[in-house]
Order: sequence, then structure tokens, then C-alpha cells
Amino acid sequence: MMRSIKFLSGFSLLLLVIAGILLLMIYEVHQQDDLNVTFLDIGQGDAILISQGSYQILIDGGPSGRLLREGIARHMPFWDHTVEVVIATHPDRDHIDGLVDLFALYNVQEFWVTSAEKETAVFDALMREVALSQVPVRKVMYGDQISFPSGAELKVIYPIRDTSKLAEHPDPNAISITALLSYGKEVFYLGGDLPYEIEDQLPLDDSITILKAGHHGSNTSTSEDLLTKTKPHDVVISAGRGNRYGHPDPAVLNRILKSGARTLRTDLDGDISYRCNDSQCGRVY
Ligand SMILES: [Zn+2]
Repeated sequence: MMRSIKFLSGFSLLLLVIAGILLLMIYEVHQQDDLNVTFLDIGQGDAILISQGSYQILIDGGPSGRLLREGIARHMPFWDHTVEVVIATHPDRDHIDGLVDLFALYNVQEFWVTSAEKETAVFDALMREVALSQVPVRKVMYGDQISFPSGAELKVIYPIRDTSKLAEHPDPNAISITALLSYGKEVFYLGGDLPYEIEDQLPLDDSITILKAGHHGSNTSTSEDLLTKTKPHDVVISAGRGNRYGHPDPAVLNRILKSGARTLRTDLDGDISYRCNDSQCGRVY
């Protein structure tokens, strides 16, 4: 009798363990399809980590290697040392300084840039590291795109191929790589530091659900026209606490408020993360 009770409890324990492992496997497979997008709290600058399964895209690296490293560690498994694509939207310090150390720490498979260059020590240091790591560099423009293995898509919508028009804009902000990231019904607008003169000309519509405010919430971006045209649910501002530029500008905050969208700010909210499956998307706290 005792022996059969022992056998039965041992058997149920084994069943429980097997069921647990199966559940974990189902959960893992399910998680592989989720798209995770995090606007990292890296001070005054931009750094956006996008991942689906073990496939990652990093858009910009913020102003500090240490803050970027810590930010990535918060959202990427420690055993994953590969970032599939790194994008530098434009060569300003608050977008590329953090990237300088990244190429020695991670196996970066592709580095995307625009044709904009800058004669600064940080830009030189970055390009030296890129050359040392032998990562392929690609100058991207409208039409370039990335399809994630699990279904999300990142499409570059700016700069356009017409280089004569680019020559009219010597300001690196105006050449920011601008992309739409879509998965299911969700569309993220990621426009670097583009000024409103260009933002307002982009072929955008109300399919956009989450909009990154241009240029850290500066009054030179994110016009009323853009907000009316795109009608996002959320506007995300990437700015440093107490930054010396006064970003985000109160006029921009007012425009967002008037548009009915929710405002999220890295200087107040820390990392801003979304997890999306093919039918819904929500903020992760
Ligand atoms: Zn910037």
C-alpha cells in the first residue's frame, strides 16, 4: 500500500515537472513572436532597442557608452551578444557617442548610416571602431527595409533618393534616417531629429499609433499638422532629466495634449517599453 502511494506521488510529481517544462516551452515559443520596443532612458539623446526573439535592431546609442550598455542589459538576455542591425540616424553626439564602445562588446552584423558625416572627434572614433570590427556599413535611404524573422517590418521612409534635395539641407538633423516599424496593427514612427519642414512633407497617415517626437521634444519638430495627420495614441519624448536645452518644449507638450495623445517622457518615466503581438500592443512597466 505504502509503496503504491509513494509510486503514485512520484509519478504525479514527474507529470507536474513535464507539464511545467511544456508550459515553459509554449511560453518561450510565444514570446519569440512578441515585438519589444524600448525607448531607453539614456539621458539627453536617443536610443531605441527593438527586438523580436533573438533578433535586435538598435536605433542610435545616446550620449554615453555606459548608459547604453546598462540600458541594453536591462532589456536583452545576457547570453545574447549579437545585435543584428545598428542604425545611426545622423552623426550628432547625442545619437552616436554611446555607440563607440558597442562594436567591441557586441557582434554587430550590419551598421546603417546616411551619407551625412561630421568632422568631430566622436564621429572619427565611431568610424574607427566600425572599421576595426569590420562590420559591413550600409548607406540607407527610402525603400530600404528589414523584415524580422517573426514578422515585424522596419521600413526606411527618409532620406529620399533624390540627393539634390538632400544638398539643400546641410543640417545633419534634416538627414535623420526615418523609419516606420510595423507589426500587426501597430505602427511606430521613428524620425530621429527631423525638423518639421521635412516631417510635414513625409507621406504619413493615421495608421501611426506610436509617434516618437522629433528632436527630443524641441519646438522645431512635431508640428500640429503632423499630429493631426497621424493621430497617434502615444507620443514618446526621449530627453534627459534637467537638460540644458529645455527639452521638451512646453509648446510641443501643449500640441500633444491638444491632439488627445498620451505623452510619455524618458526624463520622467525612465525606459518606455512596449510589447506587441500581432493583434495588440501595450506598455510594459
Ligand atoms: Zn538629438
